[in-house]
Amino acid sequence: MNIEQKITALRNELREHNYKYYVLDQPSISDYEFDMKLEQLQKLEEQHPEFYDPASPTLRVGGMVTKNFETVAHEHRMYSLDNSYSKEDLEDWEKRIQRILGDVAVEFTCELKYDGASISITYENGQLVRAVTRGDGVQGDDVTTNVKTIKSVPLQLKGDYPPKFDIRGEIILPFEGFAKMNQERIEAGEDPYMNPRNTASGSLKLQDSAMVAQRPLDCLLYSIVGENLGITTQFEGLEKARSWGFKVPTVAKLCKSTQEVMQFADYWDAHRHTMPYETDGVVVKVNSIQQQQELGYTAKSPRWAMAYKFKAEQATTVLNKITYQVGRTGAITPVANLEPVLLAGTTVKRASLHNADQIAKLDVRGGDTVFVEKGGEIIPKIVGVDFTKRSEDSVPTEYITTCPECGTELIRKEGEAQHFCPNDTGCPPQITGRIQHFISRKAMDIEGMGSETVELLFKEGLISNYADLYTLTKEQVMPLERMAEKSAENLVNGVAASTAIPFERVLFALGIRYVGETVAKKLARAYKNIDALMAATQEELMAVDEIGERIAQSVIQFFNEPTNRDIVERLRSHGLQFSLSEAQLENQTDKLKGQTFVVSGVFETVSRDELKKMIEDNGGKVASSISSKTSYVVAGDNMGPSKKTKAESLGVPIISEQDFLQMV
Ligand code: AMP
Ligand code: ZN
Repeated sequence: MNIEQKITALRNELREHNYKYYVLDQPSISDYEFDMKLEQLQKLEEQHPEFYDPASPTLRVGGMVTKNFETVAHEHRMYSLDNSYSKEDLEDWEKRIQRILGDVAVEFTCELKYDGASISITYENGQLVRAVTRGDGVQGDDVTTNVKTIKSVPLQLKGDYPPKFDIRGEIILPFEGFAKMNQERIEAGEDPYMNPRNTASGSLKLQDSAMVAQRPLDCLLYSIVGENLGITTQFEGLEKARSWGFKVPTVAKLCKSTQEVMQFADYWDAHRHTMPYETDGVVVKVNSIQQQQELGYTAKSPRWAMAYKFKAEQATTVLNKITYQVGRTGAITPVANLEPVLLAGTTVKRASLHNADQIAKLDVRGGDTVFVEKGGEIIPKIVGVDFTKRSEDSVPTEYITTCPECGTELIRKEGEAQHFCPNDTGCPPQITGRIQHFISRKAMDIEGMGSETVELLFKEGLISNYADLYTLTKEQVMPLERMAEKSAENLVNGVAASTAIPFERVLFALGIRYVGETVAKKLARAYKNIDALMAATQEELMAVDEIGERIAQSVIQFFNEPTNRDIVERLRSHGLQFSLSEAQLENQTDKLKGQTFVVSGVFETVSRDELKKMIEDNGGKVASSISSKTSYVVAGDNMGPSKKTKAESLGVPIISEQDFLQMV
């Protein structure tokens, strides 16, 4: 086998594994084996840029940045759907259809209505050429770069596909991935996203496709459009799309009557929670394409299709009391404590009220009868009040002005929805929250210790910050509730073992607001040790790639606080890692010290991320926009024209990938 054949074989093999993993959900090799093969392909492609292929599985990681999404006209208009809410609505629709078609048999294909962002993807000769959002139906935004990072979207089709067609589908965020994303945001002290649908459509408009690649997005396809496709029914279309490698849910049914349609709809109304993603109804389509053509379109929607909307799952119950939770960062969250009620298969006792504005908007009060809904959100929410049931002596809710845990007066910063308790060093849930974050799995991962132990240790006065963990003795811990000699020993050993945890995770564990796992890694790599980081100015911090004003300010503020500096010193004296290890430093030089780079375009032999890492590893800085302080712009293919003009006008040298590789 020559090199080209080897590359092709690897690409085909990886494509097939991608398909099995992301589309069929049936991987046949381990993640590790997959990564090894991908790496092998990456190496070969690096050495042989002449065999570049825009559909290579190595290009899934993203890296292209889109400043403005180009508006593109749809070759075939993207319609919306008429809605129906009852059996009667559906029967009326069937009558209208029969009137147009005459006395012929009509079959229907029923599918679930996936709740996400619509997309139209164009394929030519089996390759993905363009992905466009619905927009106003006539034209949408070209989001190709971002869509290509979604692993279940095939870049290269298989089987017997037509030379050119558009395929329509929905970009969604499955519940599990959405929950995980939110978990990470909460850990970083950021507000969680509201629901999967908005997050999915927001993701499509992110400028940095590498960020899109990190989101667990999925794409479910439901219809093929184009000329001379050789498809005679909707159901056949679904099967064909599936055979070309698209992810087409198998929950689709061919029905011979509206009665069967209703059975399908009723079944899924009751069972929709078994699906891993959000659905908000059923879409019923006339199966025969010829009949579809006879029926045609109204100004807004096809006459041959109808959405049957599930009723939003709602329950009414009494709100007993509004209480307020204080998070690790001091953020206050109002919580509605409800009379337990069954909703979407689970008993609900609490619902989120988000913030003061939400309470005022709904005018919700203790004692009210409220409507509770469960959408894509993990925590149910209150959507309204049954005012007819409100008692006459009810009084408007007054939002708290002081912290329910420590009594400190709350603050609300300009432009922020949330109130905060500013007493970060003396407010109990903030103290324990920070320690709980410190010991958590992704931070110091202290074995033998859980959230409850932290609370217990705090209550007993044994710890008041995470540095105190390192002076705990077995004798102090043993008398605690549910502690035995063995568990006390495990705890103390677990704490001692954590001194080996690498610097970037220690940095994450400190719990600086907005410094999540990724940011901590960036900072650790850029500054190499805590002293350099503590000495950094806001401006210097902002020069680090992806560190904005908000994060920079938060870091400065954290280290300006004498108690925090003191705690860092104590942790240091206990042997925690406050600098990168020898091994981590080995790959690093000072060759690019004092120089700032802007990276733009696509590269042949290294990915954008690798290039950025090389700059940072060699002591240089990566900035996101060109200014007079930029030393070099490293330009790949497709460098943005505005960047080019800017660099030229400021006299910043533009260098190629090869020039750069020579520098390091
Ligand atoms: P609406 O936005 O309420 O007008 O509903 C129309 C949208 O439903 C379409 O633009 C699609 O994005 C979406 N949709 C979700 N699932 C399906 C499906 N199985 N068939 C057709 N459209 C669907
Ligand atoms: Zn407080």
